[in-house]
Amino acid sequence: MIKEMNYPMMHQVDNGGAPDENCTHDCSSCGVDCPSREGGIQKAKLNEHSSVKKVIGVVSGKGGVGKSMVTALSALAATRNGFRTGVMDADITGPSIPKMFGVHSKAMGSEFGILPEVTPTEISLMSINLLTENETDPVIWRGPVIAGVVEQFWTDVCWGDLDVLFIDMPPGTGDVPLTVFQSLPIDGIIVVTSPQDLVSMIVAKAVNMARMMNIPVLGLVENMSYIKCPDCGRKIEMFGPSQAEAVAVANGIKLLEQLPIDPVLSQEADMGKIEFNQGTQMESILEVLEDLGLKAE
Ligand code: ADP
Repeated sequence: MIKEMNYPMMHQVDNGGAPDENCTHDCSSCGVDCPSREGGIQKAKLNEHSSVKKVIGVVSGKGGVGKSMVTALSALAATRNGFRTGVMDADITGPSIPKMFGVHSKAMGSEFGILPEVTPTEISLMSINLLTENETDPVIWRGPVIAGVVEQFWTDVCWGDLDVLFIDMPPGTGDVPLTVFQSLPIDGIIVVTSPQDLVSMIVAKAVNMARMMNIPVLGLVENMSYIKCPDCGRKIEMFGPSQAEAVAVANGIKLLEQLPIDPVLSQEADMGKIEFNQGTQMESILEVLEDLGLKAE
């Protein structure tokens, strides 16, 4: 039977044996001696009716640099090239994936779990916006609750068979992204920055955080890198010559792509039509997928 899902109807994630069903996964504020404590946070279990070959986290040092845009464009490039693709919107306090894809319906549930929304090009999506009563309801939960919801997106959502799941990660290097990093089996991350952030320590912080957790950094994307003059097509670097290549080399990572500020992209995202974009942005992801051992059907 398929029924409509609301966040309060979701049950607690199977936490691998923690004794208390109200476990917040915040061991620092809990004295209970439980299996979750041993070796830190346990990895969440994937929904038993799903198989996901590779999980790629898309991260940024802060919000607003285009992390969701790069997630969406990567998913589009993957699905167009024959990979069974999903997007988990783990940016719980600033979810923008459903809006970009024009998805406004509520998620439905079945006996196998919560069903992701499937877009016309067959990308499976899950976001908190598909579970809250109104899209405009703010999420005002504390970190451990947010991290718990992301775990539920892994455990309770029936993703089906996916080649790759892109996770639009919570921004920054704080408590929530850290817990998500630790609790989901992420195969690698893509770091998204804007040109201004490249000159700061933000990229190095995100890269170091991943390395400290033994998560490979699959590449760097410089978003809003330049604009193209609509008359002559000349590339204008508004923030001076790009430092992306130098920063990638300094951090020992690959520069995957430099994306321009493209008014068509932002219009399509605002109108919920990103899926119909005809560009080739983020096709660099195909090499990443190949390096991870994935082959399109
Ligand atoms: P984040 O996920 O990092 O918070 P978003 O992906 O939501 O950032 O992007 C922030 C805003 O910038 C959105 O309105 C988005 O449509 C727009 N945007 C992102 N990248 C581009 C781009 N390359 N060209 C034009 N607009 C962009």
